[in-house]
Amino acid sequence: VPSIDEYGRRAVDFCQRLVRIPSLSGSEAQVAQAIAGEMQLLGYDAIEIDSMGSVIGTIDSGVPGRTVIFDGHVDTVGVTDQADWTRDPFGGEIEGGRLYGRGASDMKGSLAAMIYGAALSAKTVEAGTVYVCGTVMEELFEGAALAAIVGACNPDCVVVGESTGLCLNLGQRGRMEIVVETSGLAAHSSTPHLGVNAVEKMTDVLVRLRSLPMPHDDLLGSGVLVLTDIISSPYPAISVVPHRCRATFDRRFLVGEDPGSVLDPMRHAIAGLQAADPILSAQVSIARGEYKTYTGRTISGEKVLSAWKTPADGLVAVTAREALKAAGIEPREKAYSFCTNGSGSARLGVTTIGFGAGFEEQAHTRDEYIEVDQIEKATAGFASLAQYLTRSGRQMRLF
Ligand SMILES: [Zn+2]
Repeated sequence: VPSIDEYGRRAVDFCQRLVRIPSLSGSEAQVAQAIAGEMQLLGYDAIEIDSMGSVIGTIDSGVPGRTVIFDGHVDTVGVTDQADWTRDPFGGEIEGGRLYGRGASDMKGSLAAMIYGAALSAKTVEAGTVYVCGTVMEELFEGAALAAIVGACNPDCVVVGESTGLCLNLGQRGRMEIVVETSGLAAHSSTPHLGVNAVEKMTDVLVRLRSLPMPHDDLLGSGVLVLTDIISSPYPAISVVPHRCRATFDRRFLVGEDPGSVLDPMRHAIAGLQAADPILSAQVSIARGEYKTYTGRTISGEKVLSAWKTPADGLVAVTAREALKAAGIEPREKAYSFCTNGSGSARLGVTTIGFGAGFEEQAHTRDEYIEVDQIEKATAGFASLAQYLTRSGRQMRLF
């Protein structure tokens, strides 16, 4: 039986190799192959690449029991500021206990830890099944690839491996992309009074929306409505009063909110403006996304990613806490501030928790890194989670 320390070290080495393979969303073929190869080497019972291109490795006890999914997305955001990096974003350099590179923290470190951790648990899982999923396209459409796997595997619970700093995360806010469009009337800019300036109208809308109250939740934090882009039409406009303006908002919402309860206050606010300014014309809608996976499948839909909260005293959270303690981790409990694949599993009603190596603040940053020590500890954590979350009755003890 391999030792926890040895597998922790090998997970670090594997993370380093994963960082050296660029894997932008929609271009994950090579990294998926590397993961499938590693799972083969580690003796996984089955390895499959699904129609979207996600890798699914199975640890199967052969005895009926609980089914657990470990999820780690394999895609990363790009590097748009390489000149500002002091390290090679695809070098995987290790220095001072840190492994550097794009995706090191988000989330190749945790991915390597769960692949090695689940393999380590294989001899001690007496019942049930663990699926370790390397999912595609998370950075473009959170939850889509995981939801497809959850639908096929029907798990009892899902562990999202996004960075938690080895804490146990019990929720996240949802995310909605909202488009506001104003329309006016084009005119020559020397005679603006003959037109209706759609950008000026948008300015009034923006100021009004900024004062909308946001709800609060003690675990998840506050709702957020933030402008993420704005564009006028025509653009650029040479001596023309623009007749259209389109703004995109990112709305982080809480459990209990839905598209209706989010959009209604925005529409009411605009209706209030229109009462005073009858020529103001503005529409509010939810953005749609459409993306192609490297396997040629289309992922499309409204950009509404569910919020979720898992009860701290429920079976899954209680068992996970016990598992992490057994692995020498004293887990603090908190929530993600960003959106994760957990939106996909929670939407389908599957109990979801978060546990992972590294810190959320490192995601998408210049000189992204993960502490080697976090990967090693997370490997033990995932091994223990695999054992505890599948157990029913007596267990061999790895810890
Ligand atoms: Zn991530």
